[in-house]
Amino acid sequence: MKITEFVLHPLRMPLVHPYALSNAYGVLAESDQIYIEVKTDEGIVGWGEGNPWPAFSGDTAASVVCVLRELICPALLGEDPTNLNVIHQKMDALIAGCKMAKAAVDMACYDILGKSLATPVHKILGGKKYDTIRCFWSVGGSSPEESAAEVLDIKKRGYWGCMIKIGTDYKNDIARTLAVREAVGPDFPLIADANQGWDYDTALRYGKGVESVDLLFYEQPVKAWDIASLAKLRRKLSIPISADEGVSTIQEAMALVKADACDVFSIKSSKQGGIMPAKRICEYASEHGVRLFFNSMIEGGITQAASLNVAATSDIMMTTGHSFFSTLRHKDDVTDFAGLVVNGITTIPDRPGLGVTVYDEKIKQYESSPVAVK
Ligand SMILES: [Mg+2]
Repeated sequence: MKITEFVLHPLRMPLVHPYALSNAYGVLAESDQIYIEVKTDEGIVGWGEGNPWPAFSGDTAASVVCVLRELICPALLGEDPTNLNVIHQKMDALIAGCKMAKAAVDMACYDILGKSLATPVHKILGGKKYDTIRCFWSVGGSSPEESAAEVLDIKKRGYWGCMIKIGTDYKNDIARTLAVREAVGPDFPLIADANQGWDYDTALRYGKGVESVDLLFYEQPVKAWDIASLAKLRRKLSIPISADEGVSTIQEAMALVKADACDVFSIKSSKQGGIMPAKRICEYASEHGVRLFFNSMIEGGITQAASLNVAATSDIMMTTGHSFFSTLRHKDDVTDFAGLVVNGITTIPDRPGLGVTVYDEKIKQYESSPVAVK
């Protein structure tokens, strides 16, 4: 099989409500989703997605489109999309980093591979261990009262746990966390995510202030590169520590394990650069006693489906839900992924490929200038 054409569809999707994050990111009102359509000489079409977020990943919508249009797509025309090893080797030889562009191509190639075998991607990855995975939700910054009411509503809607976005004024974040725990009771799983918002001292103050509320884990309290502070916090606090921004590559995963710096890796298929590198990090984590949390960027249905296929085959933390609500945070999605999430339960799709349908009319509705490379 050969790739005959790529079509890039840059989408901008508004969120239902503005999403207030840490000092490092501010408030988000919309997300960029770069959809890629990969066509083949056998008539099979695969879909991929990249999720540029400048302050998080170092990519912009324009930079992802540029890297794909100028470098990656022209070099992969004529290649076999079902040979993921060669696809990744070629992309890595062309340009370092640029994970959002590479992730989009990786997902589309897995989609083609699955469709060509009439097999879901999770089967290609070794087979699913679950038929369903619980879903959690995540809330942005606000007052303690608003946070408590919001998380209580999420609990009532059937979601299995909630992430509280922190990383701004640490005293308010302590008050919010205590108020949420008071509102939802002792058994509802809670996670706090500071999104790199603090230095070590502030991160420690927050951690000490919430040790009594039994957080399931505390994510990325300090900058992605600051493994030493992460390790120090892990020793000083009784709360498990998670790396998210700090674990994009397998080499970063190895450095975190070597430094004994975290208990959990937050896995996102686009942040990791696609399904193949994400699966590799999951296996490394599993072999080194690091638990997995399937998280999401602010992303659409293709990236969500890619992560769900990886999660289905992994040894995951079963004590909380995982992040398959991202399409519901947006005003719309160009796929049917949201239909897999019902009453806080995510069903693993058994359809060929990634297992979701992309609607052409919705792509047209939300895309700015599509780009064809053939
Ligand atoms: Mg995070």
